[in-house]
Amino acid sequence: MNQITPAHINDFGESSLSIQIIQILADIIDAKDNFSKGHSTRVARYVQEISRRYGYPEKILPKIYSASLLHDLGKIGVPEFILNKKSKLTETEFNIIKSHPVIGAHILKKISTLPEFATVARSHHERFDGSGYPDGLKGTDIPELARIVAVADAYDAMTSNRSYRDALPQKYVRFEIANGKGKQFDPVFADIMLKMIDEDKKFKMREISKGINNNIDFSTSFLVSVCPELALSLKVSEQEYKGINIPISMLIDFGKCMPGGFLVYKAKGKEEIIYANDIVFKIFGCKDIDEFKKLTGYTFSGMVFEQDLERIKLSIIEQIEKNDFNLDYVEYRIRRKDGKIRWIDDYGRLVYTAEYGNVFYVLIRDITEQHVSREILTDVDHVTSVFNRRHFDININKDITSIIHNGGRLCMVMLDIDKFKDFNDLYGHLIGDKCLSQVAQAMQSALRRKSDILFRYGGEEFAVLLPGTLLEDAVKLAERLRLAVRKLEIPHEHGPYGIVTVSAGVGMLTGENARVLEDPAATLINLADQALYKAKGLGRDMVASQGN
Ligand code: GH3
Ligand code: MG
Ligand code: MG
Repeated sequence: MNQITPAHINDFGESSLSIQIIQILADIIDAKDNFSKGHSTRVARYVQEISRRYGYPEKILPKIYSASLLHDLGKIGVPEFILNKKSKLTETEFNIIKSHPVIGAHILKKISTLPEFATVARSHHERFDGSGYPDGLKGTDIPELARIVAVADAYDAMTSNRSYRDALPQKYVRFEIANGKGKQFDPVFADIMLKMIDEDKKFKMREISKGINNNIDFSTSFLVSVCPELALSLKVSEQEYKGINIPISMLIDFGKCMPGGFLVYKAKGKEEIIYANDIVFKIFGCKDIDEFKKLTGYTFSGMVFEQDLERIKLSIIEQIEKNDFNLDYVEYRIRRKDGKIRWIDDYGRLVYTAEYGNVFYVLIRDITEQHVSREILTDVDHVTSVFNRRHFDININKDITSIIHNGGRLCMVMLDIDKFKDFNDLYGHLIGDKCLSQVAQAMQSALRRKSDILFRYGGEEFAVLLPGTLLEDAVKLAERLRLAVRKLEIPHEHGPYGIVTVSAGVGMLTGENARVLEDPAATLINLADQALYKAKGLGRDMVASQGN
């Protein structure tokens, strides 16, 4: 920052010992966070300038400067691995970060002669509309200096360098500050900041890049390439442009994970992508736009994994109808060029453009890792929407414990799609997955009792556990499932009957036997498996059984 000289520096270029100590403290805080080198100092300088312009007397500016320097002191109490985490923060981690104002205020309370220090630290994340933290203060209930720090803090977050980008373009930053007036920011101080931005013609008021992280290709930065330029090229007015802003919170809170972006154009029921950036191509495993176009047909529907399309369409249509600009995100799957399925989340915004009418502006991120860990916890298989293997393992052990203690019997049906490898080879994995899902749904609907649960055992194999059922009844149920799949009449040219069929094996275990077996679950699975093998041997599209 070149223009503003801190007021505490005297004509000889010296500052007092206490200021020097405070400065060292601020540097220690910033050193903890790789992303905020020099942040505290820059914020303090912006705050001082806003305060000066607002009319604070020159002699108290040093105090304001010092208090602002320590606004993030509470980050001392936040572990470095959280501050520097590159991927999305978990809720717990985010809550820990959110505790820094309280921690800071607690420490700074000890400077009792200057209560502003604690006040600024505590309240600099409050928002003018009352939606901030930690106290949810609103409007002028928020201490004045904290309201100034809030503007300066957001400004610096956008105008400092990140590992994946340099400072954001000034016109984007200006728009965000203007857009946050009365919402995130006190309008009075936002206006002063805007004036400072407008006077700063050469955009000197930002973190000057040291060239260390300067290998960033500007064209890959979504915010740079899509947000201002494309919006301008679409002739979106500032008012309309409001619909396509990214919340500042996303830059600050999620800012460490750069999203990809694209725009969908919808006219007369036809949708078409009109822009996508490099990050989008990367998510899809494509090396350039041509590969991406080939893969998706350059349409939104072409991007979305087929089974998720209906659900996504529904939410998008709802969004358009509601004209809702503040949408939450949706999650869906995509299929990459290499055939792999990935989960992404999607922040959509609807914007009206003179040239195209309503356009959907969409930010996407790859969230596969988070999703997989969540799926394990929810026990549902994402391809077929039936219970997964983990849930099967839990249930079979529960059922076996029950027959060991209470007697009775447990049947298991193991089902396997016939010649499914050939099906994939013939029609491709996409249709293969769809077939898997249809087969699962057909079998699920053929189950009548609530206690009969269908599991995806693995690959193209499914299982049903039937506690208390007689072997002959279990065979009847397996027959019903077999017929339900036949009824779908999914063509399978290389299948034994020209359509997709399943074979089933039924196994049964009594409590008496279970008690003396070393691993009764494995025995039951083996029995069902042997019966299945028998059914396959009989020509497929068959049910066979095996008791013990
Ligand atoms: P059989 O009648 O003897 O059961 O023949 P098969 O080809 O069905 O049996 P095999 O075990 O040789 O092959 C199973 C195939 O199932 C292999 C794989 O291509 C396919 N498969 C497994 N999981 C999935 C999946 O999630 N999606 C798709 N599309 N295919 C899968
Ligand atoms: Mg098979
Ligand atoms: Mg198989």
